[in-house]
Amino acid sequence: METSTARPHFVLVPWIGSISHIAPLTDIGCLLASHGASVAIITTPANASLVQSRVDRVTPLGAVIAVTAIPFPAAEAGLPEGCERLDLIPSPAMVPGFFRANKKFGEAVAQYCSRDAPRRPSCIISGMCNTWTLPMARELGVPCYIFHGFGAFALLCIDHLYRQGRHEAIASAEELVDISVLQQPFDCKILGRQLPPHFLPSTSVGSASMQEMRDFDLAVDGVVVNSFEELEHGSTALLAAAAGKEVLAVGPVSLCCVPSLDQQGDDARRCMAWLDGKKAKSVVYVSFGSAGCMPPAQLIQLGMALVSCPWPVMWVIKGAESLPDDVKEWLRDNTDADGVAESKCLVVRGWAPQVAVLVHPAVGGFMTHCGWGSTLESVAAGVPMVTWPLFAEQFVNERLIVDVLGIGVSVGVTKPTENVLTAGKLGTDVAKAEVEAEQVKSALGRLMDEGDEGEDMRRKALELKVKANSALEKGGSSYNNLEKLIQSSV
Ligand code: UDP
Repeated sequence: METSTARPHFVLVPWIGSISHIAPLTDIGCLLASHGASVAIITTPANASLVQSRVDRVTPLGAVIAVTAIPFPAAEAGLPEGCERLDLIPSPAMVPGFFRANKKFGEAVAQYCSRDAPRRPSCIISGMCNTWTLPMARELGVPCYIFHGFGAFALLCIDHLYRQGRHEAIASAEELVDISVLQQPFDCKILGRQLPPHFLPSTSVGSASMQEMRDFDLAVDGVVVNSFEELEHGSTALLAAAAGKEVLAVGPVSLCCVPSLDQQGDDARRCMAWLDGKKAKSVVYVSFGSAGCMPPAQLIQLGMALVSCPWPVMWVIKGAESLPDDVKEWLRDNTDADGVAESKCLVVRGWAPQVAVLVHPAVGGFMTHCGWGSTLESVAAGVPMVTWPLFAEQFVNERLIVDVLGIGVSVGVTKPTENVLTAGKLGTDVAKAEVEAEQVKSALGRLMDEGDEGEDMRRKALELKVKANSALEKGGSSYNNLEKLIQSSV
């Protein structure tokens, strides 16, 4: 094994729970490589092609990144073969098994890094649930950074709530919890039931695993964030001070390399061709992340708003194949499938080329679930948002978008949607839609109408777009933080 050279060698081990963790950490690897570092990314066989396809985008630019796939022991933990992400899990009851398999995977990764890897790492950057990377880094005598996939504001809120003991005395569902953690007096509050999973009565992850992740968080040497310092009103510095460690914002990673249409396939080309036929800033893009679904009754209310609003809509629906027949019928009768150029409401069943869609000149607004990846991609594209959080830290991100940054209108959802981590535990009534069509149309109107409120949000969003791009340019804050990370690992 090669041990020393002036060029630091980063080993990145993304948390394989979801694409939205794997993709941005891979992109951070691409950014490090573009700054001259040597990078290896370790993942599982089922996720290797996703990682490789992102790496391939920067290889022509001279970046050298090794991708290694180590088998994931799904079957040993009672999971179906190839079940290597949480969105591939057939039932929430299998979540603990997924975490057990991830531990075993960790043992194999540690063995590979200490014995078989061609080069000794000088720094490890670990996904948030891969707690086993810390003993591995300690044994190798190298620093271990964590990548959560969350923004710095959400991380600061989570840290603040832990320090208040909120994980021990669980808030009641209706309690208003103050998350005004920034120095400027932004008044941010969310309901007890909207708190991130760490502070909910119970999740399918289990409290022991949650505590293990918190301990990991406290013990790592530093934090790498997909964000930029100018965005989150001092959150990175406040978190660094609270946690007593370096917090480096190195994004937005979506700007590191926008894939060309040739790399995206026919479905993506159809989406882009549809946008090409629309007026500038006229389209509302609607998407709820890599796996976000809503109950059928809610989906219909949303659909009624989208088909009757005055703007063209591109609506991405995940899990459309498992919708009840009456909802499928409604969609068939009221929307158009991919490829109908003149359609008013285009439904994309599957994967939309989101980064490319958001930077298209026709897109004027983004209705989003406030996942951090989507939030930052919207910021980087200068597109204001209608916010519709579903779960996890998304309600916290909504407060950042609406209360702090002033670049979004809340649709007004108050109840989290059940998902694989909370299934059956939130007591949500899925038969009834919480948000009516008129409420959705009113939020869309406030954002898309040519009134002062919409104008103000568009102006602020464009200012942030400029700052996002500057952050990654030579001498910008994210550029400098990448250099800092590299220098501290030489
Ligand atoms: N994404 C995409 N096409 C889709 C759905 C999602 O490209 O049809 C990407 C999106 O660009 C973002 C990620 O998937 O990078 C979703 O991440 P986010 O943090 O917003 O949400 P999550 O999937 O974790 O809920």
